[in-house]
Amino acid sequence: SFGTADLKKMFDAIAAAIEADKDRLCQLDGVIGDADHGIAMALGFNAARDAVAALDAATVEPATLLNTAAKSFLNAVGASSGPLYATAFMRGAAAVKGKATLAASDVIAMFQAMAQGIKDRGKAEPGEKTMVDAWQPAAEAATAAHGAGKDLAESLGIAFAAAERGAEATKDMIATKGRSSRLGERSLGYIDPGAASAVLVIGAIRSSLA
Ligand code: ADP
Ligand code: MG
Ligand code: MG
Repeated sequence: SFGTADLKKMFDAIAAAIEADKDRLCQLDGVIGDADHGIAMALGFNAARDAVAALDAATVEPATLLNTAAKSFLNAVGASSGPLYATAFMRGAAAVKGKATLAASDVIAMFQAMAQGIKDRGKAEPGEKTMVDAWQPAAEAATAAHGAGKDLAESLGIAFAAAERGAEATKDMIATKGRSSRLGERSLGYIDPGAASAVLVIGAIRSSLA
């Protein structure tokens, strides 16, 4: 099972993954957006990592950690990704509320709730060339794999592969939500930066928890 200390490590892993690919994310956003996505994500996840690192793992429950991450992410980020990830972590918190430790099924529920939170906050459906195109197939794949009896490592591995495919597929989509929707058909042929960063986030969740 997983506890607050494991979720701290999860935020360490996400922040490190984003930091390592920050420039690439800004470059992707430079093509169809305003070139700040790597900076926004790094600011947000560095703030979340630092805020949760300061919590006492012995007394603070996972839901409180996730709500702390949500608040610090929102405060640190002025870009659209701020409220999207803040909502993800708030919904993740609600999914594990009251639990001192998380079983595999709780981690899957948290993951699914995060994806749903992003979708609800952004009001985006799959196919609109956003991070939802990585998060939704990943969450569906994780839930299906877990439901079919796969363990957490395998379920999150399958989710990660689905996120990678989903992000790649945004190349062939026309943006209809967010800043790049202004480009219309000119957004075709390029990967959505938010979907690319979602792959990094999901990969880090997988490698730290599974
Ligand atoms: P901004 O566009 O404000 O500079 P970022 O660069 O941080 O924000 O994030 C851009 C990413 O946010 C996009 O690539 C897309 O994946 C995601 N995004 C934008 N609007 C939405 C939305 N309504 N729903 C889901 N994701 C969105
Ligand atoms: Mg941007
Ligand atoms: Mg911006």
